[in-house]
Amino acid sequence: ATNDPRGAAGLRVIREDLGDCTRCRLGGTRKNIVFGVGDPDAALVFVGEGPGENEDNTGEPFVGKAGELLTKMIGAMGFSRSDVYICNVVKCRPPNNRNPQPDEIAACEPFLIRQLGAIAPRVIVALGKFAAQTLLRTDAPISAFRGNWYRYQGIALMPTFHPAFLLRNPSAKREVWDDLKQVMAELDRLGVPRRKE
Ligand code: SF4
Repeated sequence: ATNDPRGAAGLRVIREDLGDCTRCRLGGTRKNIVFGVGDPDAALVFVGEGPGENEDNTGEPFVGKAGELLTKMIGAMGFSRSDVYICNVVKCRPPNNRNPQPDEIAACEPFLIRQLGAIAPRVIVALGKFAAQTLLRTDAPISAFRGNWYRYQGIALMPTFHPAFLLRNPSAKREVWDDLKQVMAELDRLGVPRRKE
């Protein structure tokens, strides 16, 4: 449990504590911290791996081609981008889009945990192998555990493929849609309002 206020007030405190962060080496090469966007009281949070080039340039997560696809996926679920919250495991772009290293994750993850504490979502969707493996502390291939429910910080978590992976492997869209259908069913069961298709 974290001591931050709930919702927008909590996110403001966390962003202030993060400051012009240089707690890990990624702070030395990033252009912009990509903190997260969306509803500070969202019932549904998407967590990706880390910012890429477009995100580093704009300070916003999931922009560019993969971001467009994510926005479409969110729309198909009966939400808009502003109804959910979108962030990443690490808030600064790793150079050349390499994977974040364990010490970088260790430095940054406390802020993600605090964000989730303030937002208090009912469901988290982990986008892609790396985000899912990091949050769930596993080295298993994502194909082995996607589509199943897990818990992270006490919150229900559904791992699925990353939109960038879907752009390269369109046939995997069906599996992602199956995973998102499970998320919609859970949100419906919890009474979270969404626009039905
Ligand atoms: Fe700080 Fe996280 Fe950026 Fe590292 S990745 S500098 S811990 S905000």
